[in-house]
Parts: sequence; structure tokens; C-alpha cells
Amino acid sequence: MRLFATLTLSDGSRLKADFYVFACGPWLGQLFPVTVGDLIRSTKQDIFFFGPPAGDSRFTDEHLPVWGDHGKRFFYGIPGSDRRGFKVADDTRGEAFDPTNGDESSADDAEAHSRICRSRFLR
Ligand SMILES: Cc1cc2nc3c(=O)[nH]c(=O)nc-3n(C[C@H](O)[C@H](O)[C@H](O)COP(=O)(O)OP(=O)(O)OC[C@H]3O[C@@H](n4cnc5c(N)ncnc54)[C@H](O)[C@@H]3O)c2cc1C
Repeated sequence: MRLFATLTLSDGSRLKADFYVFACGPWLGQLFPVTVGDLIRSTKQDIFFFGPPAGDSRFTDEHLPVWGDHGKRFFYGIPGSDRRGFKVADDTRGEAFDPTNGDESSADDAEAHSRICRSRFLR
């Protein structure tokens, strides 16, 4: 089924196709308030990347699996993360978040939690 004959882009140009895929992640609800609306809700979760000392390979994917820690909160970690460091995140659903204008700075308690979590691996 065709949804649109043509699609007008933000620069005024027009696109014509048989089908369109809108892969707009957390913005989908705002783009399609009637069809998607609240079906997609963005919430805030903080993530942290810790840089191991140069030459320390304990946190690369050869030596550490991806892990999850299901407790009152849900922490997970990813080694290496494309050389961005050792990732630790608290995936507990946070407050509602506006993906366009939301404050992306981390909450103090989230950082404290992730440091505690990381310290378990440094024993
Ligand atoms: C900080 C962070 C870390 C993550 N880490 C991991 C990880 O380590 N591993 C993992 O598997 N997943 C991770 N994820 C989750 C992963 O990034 C998402 O699941 C994935 O990116 C979703 O892809 P998507 O294409 O659906 O949406 P998105 O990646 O959000 O892409 C949506 C795109 O649509 C564009 N867009 C929005 N509105 C419009 C518009 N009106 N016109 C044109 N373009 C528009 C946006 O600019 C954006 O580029 C992470 C997410 C975040 C936020």
C-alpha cells in the first residue's frame, strides 16, 4: 500500500518512492503523534566509558564478556566498545527524556552507581 505519492524533505526537495522507511528512533512518536505517539517512550539512562591504563588489556573483548547484573537496578557492561573504553551502564528505566532538547549530562547518583559497579571488576 502506498502511504505517500511524494515526500517533501526539509530542504524543499521531493522524494518519490514506492515505500518509505522512517527509522527515526526515539523521535518517531513526535513525527507521527497519531500513529505512533506514546507507543515509543524515551527515558533517560546514563552510560559511562572508563579508560583503562594504556596497555591494560583486562577490559578488552578477548578477556571480558559482555555482562549484565540484574538486581534492584540493572547494570550491564561492554568491554572495549570500539576502543572507547570499558562501558558500564545502568539500564534501569529513567525519567521521560526529550531526545531533542533533553539534558544529556549524567545524574550524580548514576555515576556513583557505575563506579561502584566498575570497582567490582578491579578487585
Ligand atoms: C548513549 C547510547 C549508547 C548506546 N550503546 C549501545 C551499545 O553499546 N550497543 C547497542 O547495541 N546499542 C546501544 N545503544 C542503543 C542503540 O544506539 C539504539 O538501539 C540504536 O541506535 C537504535 O537505532 P535506530 O536507527 O532505531 O535509531 P537512532 O540510532 O536513534 O537513529 C534515528 C535517526 O533518525 C534521525 N532523525 C530523527 N528525526 C528525523 C527527521 N525528522 N528527519 C530526518 N532524520 C531524523 C536522527 O537524527 C537519527 O540519526 C545505545 C544508545 C545510546 C543512546
